[in-house]
Amino acid sequence: MKSSIRSRAPSSSSRLVRRVMQANRGRDTIPERLFRAHLHNRGLRFRIDVRPEPTCRCKADLVFRRFRVCLFVDGCFWHGCPTHFSCPKRNAVWWQEKISDNVARDRRKSKILAEAGWTVIRIWEHEIAQNPDGCVRRVLAALNRRGRRRHAASLPRGVKRGLIAEDENA
Ligand SMILES: [Zn+2]
Repeated sequence: MKSSIRSRAPSSSSRLVRRVMQANRGRDTIPERLFRAHLHNRGLRFRIDVRPEPTCRCKADLVFRRFRVCLFVDGCFWHGCPTHFSCPKRNAVWWQEKISDNVARDRRKSKILAEAGWTVIRIWEHEIAQNPDGCVRRVLAALNRRGRRRHAASLPRGVKRGLIAEDENA
């Protein structure tokens, strides 16, 4: 069996690895917090950084449990954004493998959750920054699709006859 990527991390570059990691700390960026506030203002309630499925080890960034919709905000560096990922020059092979591993893991997680009946939304970090309204609309559209199948009483405020106005303020 192949040894883990972590165990093969080039020790000579551990300072560099740390620096790269610190420079790419995607979580809880200002655009991400604004995005959550925007969803919250729409009357939507969700859990942050929890497991959608108790039996599945992975956590999602936002979980709309009642709708069985979960959302991941993928950092452009760690998740290998086709537009923004640029491989560090030192230990490029290791980094390339590390990021490919992350991408494969993301796909696996999405597949497992979808098979468990979840709608999985993946949004790039850059999309949140560049087009927050578009991201909000994607979430509303997914919730609407799930919401139609549920009783109106269980839908959040602002939802009329199973529909959330997707183009409101758009
Ligand atoms: Zn990107």
